[in-house]
Amino acid sequence: MYDMIIIGGGPAGLSAAVAAQGRGKQVLVISNPAEGNPLSKAPVIHNYLGLPGRSGRQMMEEFTKHALDMGAELRTGRVLTAMNMGDSFFLTVGSDVYEGKKLIFAGGISRGTKYPGEEGLVGHGVSYCATCDGMLYRKRPVVVIGRAKDAPLEANYLAQIGCQVTYVSPAAPVGLDAAIPSVKAGRLEIAGEGGSVTAVVADGAKIPCEGVFILRETVAPNDLLPELELEDGYIKVNRSMETNIPGVYAAGDCTGKPLQISKAVGEGLIAAQAAAEAIEAANNG
Ligand SMILES: Cc1cc2nc3c(=O)[nH]c(=O)nc-3n(C[C@H](O)[C@H](O)[C@H](O)COP(=O)(O)OP(=O)(O)OC[C@H]3O[C@@H](n4cnc5c(N)ncnc54)[C@H](O)[C@@H]3O)c2cc1C
Repeated sequence: MYDMIIIGGGPAGLSAAVAAQGRGKQVLVISNPAEGNPLSKAPVIHNYLGLPGRSGRQMMEEFTKHALDMGAELRTGRVLTAMNMGDSFFLTVGSDVYEGKKLIFAGGISRGTKYPGEEGLVGHGVSYCATCDGMLYRKRPVVVIGRAKDAPLEANYLAQIGCQVTYVSPAAPVGLDAAIPSVKAGRLEIAGEGGSVTAVVADGAKIPCEGVFILRETVAPNDLLPELELEDGYIKVNRSMETNIPGVYAAGDCTGKPLQISKAVGEGLIAAQAAAEAIEAANNG
């Protein structure tokens, strides 16, 4: 079991990793590939103290190297589910499961807006995790909405276990099994009846189904942990970066403005220190 699992390998998560390792804690950072991080897209950063003029990609490389040099483990992948066990957390990445005593959410801001109908049907046909929920839909029609690079592979997996898959995405998918029908559509809606999913409406055309797997690059924090308290769309934290869920901390853009590297780095440090203190207090008492 890790002392801390950090979701997000941007400035906040990597800063948290450096601080935690510095306090002798064993850390796993799970993140989407660094190339997709928003900072990697910044041509030049002028306002980071002492290091003006670097590109975002360069900063990401240096931040990542620092965390790895401190001994943090880095797992590339998307966290699809988080389970709160009371005194630890189980996180899934594909079919792998990781356990940590404390959880630091540093996943940045989720840029995808929800589809009409999605919110009310989560758990009633809407799923974000093919590995977790796929078996529920064996021999039944499902739609995979592919908004992440690995979505075609998840769709292939669903087809392999016997789901009747239709793939919907705004662009032609790469790596999708040729036997899976694919629909190109941009305007989507999730339709339901009696509290369950009945169809995906893609550019006005109905695709009947019983399950919808919505696979985005990022997962909104309150989709991972539904009881997480938000304020104006951001995770609500106190000055120790504690959320309303004991053992869960948040840092960086996900906690609110200003959406800046310095603030993310500072909050990552505070979250890791607070989590480390909580672990030490539990060990001593
Ligand atoms: C074009 C551009 C230019 C910018 N210029 C500046 C600037 O000049 N100065 C400045 O201070 N700031 C700038 N910023 C803002 C800065 O990049 C952010 O404030 C900073 O990256 C926030 O860090 P973070 O660690 O909170 O989140 P992020 O950097 O967003 O990192 C979060 C990471 O977590 C990953 N993630 C989310 N959910 C999951 C999940 N479920 N599983 C696995 N991984 C997940 C995300 O994919 C992402 O890689 C700029 C941003 C952009 C886009």
